[in-house]
Amino acid sequence: MGDEKYQIKIPDIDYFRKMIKCQDACPVNTPSGSYVNAIADGDYIRAYGLARGPNPFASVCGLICNHPCEKACRRGSIDEPVSIRALKRFAVESFMKATNSNVYKSAELSTAFRNGNGIFTGKKVAVIGSGPAGMAGAHDLARLGYKVTIFESKPVIGGMFYFGIPEYRLPRDIIKFDVDSILSLGIDVRLNFTVGKDATLQELFDEEFEAVLIAVGAHLSRPLSIEGTELEGVFHGISLLRRVNLGERPELGDRVVVIGGGNVAMDIARTVRRLKIKNVHSVCLEGLHEMPADKLEILEAMEEGITLHVRKGPQRVVGNDGKVAGLRVIDVAAVFDESGRFNPKFIEGSESVIEADSVITAIGQASDNDCLKGCEGFKATRWGTIVTDKSLNIGIQGVFAAGDVAAGPGIVIGAVASGQKAARAIDKYLRGSGHKIEKRAKITVIKDYKKPAEDYVKIERKKPPILGVEERLSGFNQVEKGYTEETAVEQANRCLKCNINTVFNGELCIACGGCVDVCPMNCLKLTSLSNLAGDENLDKLIQNRYGISKEEYEKNKDEILSSMNGAAMLKDEERCIRCGLCAKRCPTNAVTMEKFEFEEVLVNEQSGAIIN
Ligand SMILES: Cc1cc2nc3c(=O)[nH]c(=O)nc-3n(C[C@H](O)[C@H](O)[C@H](O)COP(=O)(O)OP(=O)(O)OC[C@H]3O[C@@H](n4cnc5c(N)ncnc54)[C@H](O)[C@@H]3O)c2cc1C
Ligand code: SF4
Ligand code: SF4
Repeated sequence: MGDEKYQIKIPDIDYFRKMIKCQDACPVNTPSGSYVNAIADGDYIRAYGLARGPNPFASVCGLICNHPCEKACRRGSIDEPVSIRALKRFAVESFMKATNSNVYKSAELSTAFRNGNGIFTGKKVAVIGSGPAGMAGAHDLARLGYKVTIFESKPVIGGMFYFGIPEYRLPRDIIKFDVDSILSLGIDVRLNFTVGKDATLQELFDEEFEAVLIAVGAHLSRPLSIEGTELEGVFHGISLLRRVNLGERPELGDRVVVIGGGNVAMDIARTVRRLKIKNVHSVCLEGLHEMPADKLEILEAMEEGITLHVRKGPQRVVGNDGKVAGLRVIDVAAVFDESGRFNPKFIEGSESVIEADSVITAIGQASDNDCLKGCEGFKATRWGTIVTDKSLNIGIQGVFAAGDVAAGPGIVIGAVASGQKAARAIDKYLRGSGHKIEKRAKITVIKDYKKPAEDYVKIERKKPPILGVEERLSGFNQVEKGYTEETAVEQANRCLKCNINTVFNGELCIACGGCVDVCPMNCLKLTSLSNLAGDENLDKLIQNRYGISKEEYEKNKDEILSSMNGAAMLKDEERCIRCGLCAKRCPTNAVTMEKFEFEEVLVNEQSGAIIN
């Protein structure tokens, strides 16, 4: 191998945590692999508990989570990721069936901190906005012992769950289940109450709220700067969705053009299609493969008869008698410049008009921070996003912001994580320092490791079934159906069990190479120490293992390593399928299969004692 060395990493707790890629990628660190495996074991209620623990919106997320876990899933590097989101839905449905949708039982499964066992602190906190960020913040604050009141300007709780995400993707009874579970903690809600109009922030403090969490989302549509947007028949996408979701049926005519290539634009086009409008066009600057919308959303929109006009730049809304008559567009040569920046180039002379009765814009969202009217000491970007520090404080004492209003338009699970972070910051602010969060690992040696299902590496990913187009367009019926039990168990068995690790004990190993020979994935290698390159952790390990002083080691490192008989076991984690054959083959039990579980605990800063 010449001078080339193996670049290695000595596994530590952080390494094993990062090995569980699904959990590591989830903003609230849901132990996705664990609930997937609980489903594989037939324990669906435990699966729900594992999903619900860190996430009060587990049921909603089972349907519409943007699933960063799946994007990170290690199975994706072999073929396709495990269907983690759809399996969560299966666990949720199993729990609801088994408990008759018992919201109290669901609430009991939360693992959010309970400072002082949730005993009422006597302090009041106001939360402005009842979307996922505000609700998750309220949930965690209530668990921490605060008396929480949510102020919501609309007549319904749920933020974008109700006003943005269409019912055909997220049935309202699922939102209600999660919302009721959160409210069962004793949280008060004042609906139809707009902070900034019905009360100022100062008036909330006057009402003896000692801290305020602003979670007002991003409900404004960014304006499209082209001629003709003042014409009758031009709509802002977010407000149009809100009206339809509240039961209104706005007059849109027979031909509708939606401008935008993201998920929100797809939701609008598909919603309009369900209003029995046949002629729906979707126009965007990007090419089909550049569109920011999920591929599945685009595909389903096309199946539903929406005409896509890709690589078209809107130039002008064409009018007739003050009303929309069409959208003039120009072909796009390129959307991004050479450095990858958004900088569209157009093809002169390629202009055309798409005839339409209505034009709906969906080119981005902005936040309305009128709830801070009259306040000083905070900053906001040009799109209304409130600037926060690391603790999500906005520069005014006792006032914090979370979710889309603090981070810009994002995803549900990001908003939940942000609300949770704000709750912890508020707790620290109101209680003073004295406690801190520690990440801890629980490691269990698995004595009788059960090999994963036969041929599990060959099981293909199956998409959940969906309704036929005709049935979809007959109203707002839920498009995606759940897995059957049989499919759920089969799909769960695709998991590579990344929370199980092969742990090699150097004291017991006799370097027979049996594990290397038996490994079906060729991911093990025994090699001499002199072939290794690593960081100071490798140096420390060798010094400790062979009793060499730091000074001596640093002086004669190469000589020491080449004169040693020592060997190291290298493992390529990406390829390991946790079959356990290495552990089974080892004659000295030097290889064990060990389960790693991680949790965050709230501890007393001085004594280290666990508080929750
Ligand atoms: C059409 C659409 C589809 C989406 N689909 C998905 C999806 O499939 N998956 C996903 O992960 N994410 C999706 N998102 C993104 C996701 O919905 C948001 O990131 C998330 O809802 C943000 O949560 P939030 O709590 O910050 O704000 P919001 O959910 O927007 O809630 C804010 C709440 O504050 C209230 N409010 C505002 N001002 C005041 C005031 N002054 N006083 C009192 N109350 C006030 C509002 O009425 C609202 O109820 C979608 C977004 C849209 C628009
Ligand atoms: S294979 Fe399983 S444990 Fe590994 S990242 Fe995917 S879901 Fe998680
Ligand atoms: S568990 Fe299987 S794939 Fe992983 S190292 Fe051991 S033998 Fe190889």
